[in-house]
Amino acid sequence: MTATPAPTDATAPEKNDFIRQIIREDLASGKHAAVRTRFPPEPNGYLHIGHAKSICLNFGIGREFGGPVNLRFDDTNPAKEDPEYVEAIKEDVRWLGFEWAELRHASDYFEVFYRSAIKLIEDGKAYVCDLNAEQVREYRGTLTEPGRNSPFRERSVAENLDLFTRMRAGEFPDGARTLRAKIDMASGNINLRDPAIYRIKHVEHQNTGNAWPIYPMYDYAHCLSDALEGITHSLCTLEFEDHRPLYDWCVDHVDLVRNPHLYQPLVDAGFAVPAAKPRQIEFSRLNINYTVMSKRKLLALVDEGLVNGWDDPRLPTLQGLRRRGCPPAALRLLADRVGISKQNSLIDFSVLEGCIREVMDAAAPRRMAVIDPVKLVVTNLPEGHAESLVFANHPKDPAFGERAVPFSREVWIEREDFMEVPPKGFHRLVPGGEVRLRGVGIVRCDEVVKDGDTIVELRCTLDPESRAGMEGANRKVKGTIHWVAAATAVAAEVRLYDRLFSVPDPDKDEAGKTYRDYLNPDSVRAVRGWLEPSAATLAPEAPVQFERLGFFTADRRDHAPAAPVFNRTVTLRDTWAAKGGA
Ligand code: ATP
Ligand code: MG
Repeated sequence: MTATPAPTDATAPEKNDFIRQIIREDLASGKHAAVRTRFPPEPNGYLHIGHAKSICLNFGIGREFGGPVNLRFDDTNPAKEDPEYVEAIKEDVRWLGFEWAELRHASDYFEVFYRSAIKLIEDGKAYVCDLNAEQVREYRGTLTEPGRNSPFRERSVAENLDLFTRMRAGEFPDGARTLRAKIDMASGNINLRDPAIYRIKHVEHQNTGNAWPIYPMYDYAHCLSDALEGITHSLCTLEFEDHRPLYDWCVDHVDLVRNPHLYQPLVDAGFAVPAAKPRQIEFSRLNINYTVMSKRKLLALVDEGLVNGWDDPRLPTLQGLRRRGCPPAALRLLADRVGISKQNSLIDFSVLEGCIREVMDAAAPRRMAVIDPVKLVVTNLPEGHAESLVFANHPKDPAFGERAVPFSREVWIEREDFMEVPPKGFHRLVPGGEVRLRGVGIVRCDEVVKDGDTIVELRCTLDPESRAGMEGANRKVKGTIHWVAAATAVAAEVRLYDRLFSVPDPDKDEAGKTYRDYLNPDSVRAVRGWLEPSAATLAPEAPVQFERLGFFTADRRDHAPAAPVFNRTVTLRDTWAAKGGA
């Protein structure tokens, strides 16, 4: 089932989803004087379109309610993290049109987390446990059976302090011990069955180097980071709902607000620490069909060379979408259309394409290009004939201005715009038939020149009374086709992209098949096309509509005026619905 998102106006003055309602109530009741949110990516991969939903939510709320938004790297798992991801994430957030108040790292807080753990031990709320991973699993119980207390649960505060200090000093090997919160092994919520809050890991960290042989667990570090930054509304996806009691437990038992000595080192280091009690609120993830979004699968596609790197225009990564030409405004529009709720849904890929079309239609100047050329010769023009025509750059927006388009005796037209034996309803060029050359006039096809079965040239006459602006131009002719003057045409590489997967649900691992088996073999096709000169000089990342062909974008990395490269960002119409694909 795919859900049809409620239509929303991009310029709607006020969004009113359940999270914004909570925020309005909290501000009205005086619970908070101001709102603070954060976007907390783990730097273990590139951001994807799902993250864009979270970014638009957190930064959108910041903008609407005038609150600061932090960008916080959740860098508590050093083995999988990489500075390359950090830089890409920063670039992506800015590209989406947002700027953070402060850039933070969970690793900035390692000393505070450590002191807080000491406090929990002193309060009898945490203990060092020597069970190994497998034993911990055995003791944990199941959904239907309570867990059993660890034999190390009743260690004295003194012994726990001694062992934890020695864990921190690096005395024990990886996995030998953990620090666990002492909560309730019989809890119906497995997350509360004495979860580990620290583990031993002798791994170098990108920010803290080898300073720490122990690392805090996500559930412990995330909520305390929120509390330190004074985050009022900690927005996350639904899978964290069952973790909320643990989130609250850590915040309440560490109680940073009433124990400022715990974060004194941060204050000494010059950090602003507006400590407050945060509230976690969950919303549903963005899911889109015809693609995969898990970082693990995206990484596999890149590593196995199934796509060309993280910014392959077929990927749902923000870098990929950007390279393809998806405007950031289209992703913000998508976030608005999809909205915020607790209902899990699967959004049809065509909804994204619709957003891209809408934004590009308004933003892209028009140009002409021919991607599967056949030569058309206007025989009643003299050899060497050269004209300069004036075309509007946008049919609906005069602000785009006009441009000169050279016209000559020989032009390229699309091969599919001519048919020798036309099917019924074909309104373009046929032997003996007429068609309008866009902006020029009406031509009649007199002769088809062939080399074997291949058409190499169409010889036509241009009705001199039908030139644009003349009375005779009003004569009724069914088809209008685009063209590019051969003498001045600039050769370009045109990359025609389509969906990466040919099935709506490539994630379904069925009958021994995986997403790798559902890759769309036609997801990219590079062809040589011919452009009118003023298309070639567009800047990298500039949007353009090649008339009748689609919305394109000059490739961010490979395009140059002397060797133009354009990516088809989206077709002009939804061709998948017609195929019965969607
Ligand atoms: P992984 O669990 O593989 O690391 P992740 O998607 O959870 O991936 P994070 O870097 O932890 O990655 O996510 C950062 C933020 O983006 C989190 O708040 C997360 O809830 C949110 N987020 C991730 N995926 C989506 C999605 N599909 N829709 C909306 N928000 C998302
Ligand atoms: Mg995550």
